[in-house]
Amino acid sequence: MKLTIIGTGYVGLVTGTCFAEVGHQVVCVDNDPAKIKVLQAGGIPIFEPGLEELVRKNTQAGRLSFTVSTAEGVRQSDVIFIAVPTPPLPDGSVDLSFIEKVAREIAASMASYKVIVDKSTVPVKTGDQVAETIKRYCKTPVDFDVVSNPEFLREGFAVEDLMRPDRIVVGVRSQRPVQAMKEIYKPFNAPVIVTDINSAELIKHASNSFLALKISYINAISVMCEATGANVQEVAAGMGMDVRIGRRFLDASLGFGGSCFPKDLSAFIKIAEQVGYDFKLLKEVQNINSRQMERFVKKIVDTLWVLKEKKIGVLGLAFKQNTDDIRSSPAIDLCHRLQKEGATLRVHDPKAMDKARAVLKEVTFVEDMNEVADGCDALVVATEWGEFKKLDLARARQALSHPIIFDGRNLFDPAEMKRLGFIYKSIGR
Ligand code: NAD
Repeated sequence: MKLTIIGTGYVGLVTGTCFAEVGHQVVCVDNDPAKIKVLQAGGIPIFEPGLEELVRKNTQAGRLSFTVSTAEGVRQSDVIFIAVPTPPLPDGSVDLSFIEKVAREIAASMASYKVIVDKSTVPVKTGDQVAETIKRYCKTPVDFDVVSNPEFLREGFAVEDLMRPDRIVVGVRSQRPVQAMKEIYKPFNAPVIVTDINSAELIKHASNSFLALKISYINAISVMCEATGANVQEVAAGMGMDVRIGRRFLDASLGFGGSCFPKDLSAFIKIAEQVGYDFKLLKEVQNINSRQMERFVKKIVDTLWVLKEKKIGVLGLAFKQNTDDIRSSPAIDLCHRLQKEGATLRVHDPKAMDKARAVLKEVTFVEDMNEVADGCDALVVATEWGEFKKLDLARARQALSHPIIFDGRNLFDPAEMKRLGFIYKSIGR
C-alpha cells in the first residue's frame, strides 16, 4: 500500500521504515530540512539499534523516500499517518499545536478520499478535533476518515517492537477505514483490536500511566527494603513470577524519565481533571518518582558530605540504555543536581554524548567509559547500559581517589563490590 508518515522522528522514522520493510511504499515527511537532508543522503538522524541498515535497504529498494513537503506526501498516498510531537505545556497538559498544524496542512492538500491516522500520543477526544479541523480547512469538500492508532514502541527496541507488536490498536468512527488498516498491519501478524476513537486514545495514556505506576510501585518497595534490610531485586523476582504481576517494569532505580512517561502521566492527570476526576493515584506515582531522585542525591551527599571541590564520574546520560535520547533523562537531571551542589563532573554515555553537549555545560565528556573514574571522588551509574557491566572495576578502584560507587540502576552485585573493596550504594539493597 502507499503510505505517508508526517513527522520523521523516533516514531515516524521507525514506523515508516518497518512499513517499507514489509513491502509498503512509504514517504516520510518532516518539516526539518536538516533531518530530511541527512536521510536523503543515506544517514539517520537518531540512534536506534538495527534502524540504519533497514533505512538503507528500503531506500535502495525504492520503497522508502523522504521529503519536506506535506503536500507531496498527501498527494502520493491514500493513508496518512501523523507522528509529530505532543510535548507538555507548563501546566502539564498537552501542546496540540503540532497536530492541529498538520491537520490544516493535510486538509489544504487533499483532493481525494484519505484515511488520516493519528499515531502521536494525544488526549482522548483529539480525533474529533482533528476531523473538525480537516473538514474546516479543506478547500473543496473531500471525503475522509480519521483513525486513532497509538504507538507502543520502546526506544532502544523500536524496530523489534514495530516488527513484532503485542497488539495493534485501531480506533475508528466508522467501519470504512478498518479494512485498509488491517491490510497495512497484516504482515506483522499481530492481533488487531478495533475500538471507537476515544477508547483507542485512552488505551495509550492508560497504558503508559500504568507502566509508570509499576515502576513507582517497585521504587516505593525499594524504600521499604532499605529500611528493613530486604533486597528489592529478590522481592521483584518473587513478585514477578506471579503471571498476574509479571517481572517487567519492576526494576528499582533512581526513577523513570524519557520523552513519554513523565509527559503522558502529567497529561493523563490533566485529562482526568478536565473530566472532573482527581486522579490522586497518578499524582502519587509522580511524587514517588521525584522523591526517588531526591533520595539518590541525598545518598550521595550523605556519603561525600560537601560536594564543592569534589569530582564525580557519571556513567550514562541517555534516559535509558540503547538510545541516544536525553529528553527528560534522569541522568541529565542528576548531573544538574550534582553541579548545583558544587560538584565537577566527568561524564560518559555510549551514544548520547553529542546530544548531551547541548544541555550539559562545564563537564568533561570522556570517550572511554573506563577513564571516567580517573581522579574522581566517586562514580555514579545513572543509565542501565549493558556495557557498563563490563566496566574494568579493578581499574576503577585504582583510578578513584576514594573507592565509592553509587549505582542508580542496580547494575552490580553488592557482595562482589564489597569483595573488590568498594563502598557501594545502590537502590533498595
Ligand atoms: P520526535 O520529536 O522524535 O519526532 C517528531 C518529528 O515531527 C520531528 O522530526 C519534527 O521535526 C517533526 N514535525 C513537527 N512538526 C511537523 C510538521 N508540521 N510537519 C512535518 N513534520 C513535523 O517525536 P517522537 O518521539 O517520534 O514522538 C512523536 C509522537 O509519538 C509523540 O506524540 C509521542 O508522545 C509519541 N510516542 C513516542 C514514543 C517514543 O518512544 N518516542 C513512543 C510512542 C509514542
